[in-house]
Amino acid sequence: MTKLIASIVTVGEELLIGQVLDTNAAYLAAELTRLGIPVVRSLTVGDDKEAIRGALAEGMQHGRLTVLTGGLGPTPDDVSREAAAALIGSNLSVDADVLAAIKRRFALLGRDVPAGSERVASVPDGFEVLPNSKGTAPGLWYEGDTGSIVVLMPGVPHEMRAIFSEHVIPRIRALRGRSVIEQRTLLTAGMGETTVQRQIESESHLLDPGVVVAYLPRLHGVRIRLTVTGEDASDRLDAAERYVRVKLGVAVYGCDDDTLEGVVGHLLKWRGLTVAVAESCTGGLVLDKLTNISGSSSYVMGGVVAYSNVVKQHQLGVDADALEQFGAVSEPVAMQMAEGVRARLGSDLGLSVTGIAGPSGGTEEKPVGTVWIGYADDQGTRAVKHQFGRGRRRNKEKSAIAAINFMRQILLQS
Ligand code: ATP
Ligand code: MG
Repeated sequence: MTKLIASIVTVGEELLIGQVLDTNAAYLAAELTRLGIPVVRSLTVGDDKEAIRGALAEGMQHGRLTVLTGGLGPTPDDVSREAAAALIGSNLSVDADVLAAIKRRFALLGRDVPAGSERVASVPDGFEVLPNSKGTAPGLWYEGDTGSIVVLMPGVPHEMRAIFSEHVIPRIRALRGRSVIEQRTLLTAGMGETTVQRQIESESHLLDPGVVVAYLPRLHGVRIRLTVTGEDASDRLDAAERYVRVKLGVAVYGCDDDTLEGVVGHLLKWRGLTVAVAESCTGGLVLDKLTNISGSSSYVMGGVVAYSNVVKQHQLGVDADALEQFGAVSEPVAMQMAEGVRARLGSDLGLSVTGIAGPSGGTEEKPVGTVWIGYADDQGTRAVKHQFGRGRRRNKEKSAIAAINFMRQILLQS
């Protein structure tokens, strides 16, 4: 029997021309890896029966599992079923149960059964139906005599994910020959990629050589993916995580699906503290992020978008002298903004951001990307300066992240 490794095939002209981002392939690759099945190839083809058949055949040649999404709809350009039938040399016939389920679904919605439903309900002989709890086109599962498996699922991402998690994962778990692959991604903020890498590799003899470390930078900071294969993977992964955390300290804010604002929210809630935010260059982005967390009303009081100096003065009490002498993007103004929003909104903590988002508005002394972040609590006020790049959107995003991260680090230290 061929090795239990997987190929992914995604179908659709819209993917080939870059109109739709292939999120299905990314989702399936992550899920299969988590299940201990290495993904060795991923192929995108257009809505063409022969191209789809060829991609499936190639997948079957290379490993035991081939997973396809797309081309299962009711229109004539959806031809994945026909391609699959041609692949195994079988015929398509309408599955009465599937057709009945489609009819029930539309009756419940009070709508006519659409044309093309018979197409959606036809199944290549030899394939089993995997019910679709979120839509009409079911998934299809084939397991050949040699153990080769072909899975077809609709392209619509939420339908595909439902079929995959409800029906495909349980079947895959039951297969023999899966390797144990464990992965964990540690998330950092406020440290550059080279610093992160240098820190981790500074005493690499203390790190299990069987742990593969990958560095994945993004706007929010660097992600560090740890991969371990083998029976004792879980313990070895724990040990590797401890090593990285010791090396990077508070730069690590969480792992896997954690978010910076979620982690900060947890800290604030746990400490029973409230926060208010005064924002200039981020225009509300800090509050947008903080309030993306469900339950944030228990610690976010609100804020002031103080874009103009007038608003900084009148709504936050920043004094005209400071604005005149140091400018709006300065340490004293950032500190007064944090103090002002804290005092006026009556929160425990005040956070502020003032900077030059660009691309225009920079000077020699304060180039585009200069950002001051202020923080005030009952212990006092402080501020920190960042120098970001030239892109406006990126600067806003980086400033908001830096502000939330500044508050997180202070909360951890106090
Ligand atoms: P349906 O039964 O809904 O017609 P289908 O199997 O025919 O399903 P497609 O027509 O290929 O699916 O795709 C439906 C929609 O799903 C596309 O318009 C596209 O937006 C989205 N989609 C398809 N494939 C992918 C993919 N690989 N990644 C992300 N989105 C996708
Ligand atoms: Mg399609």
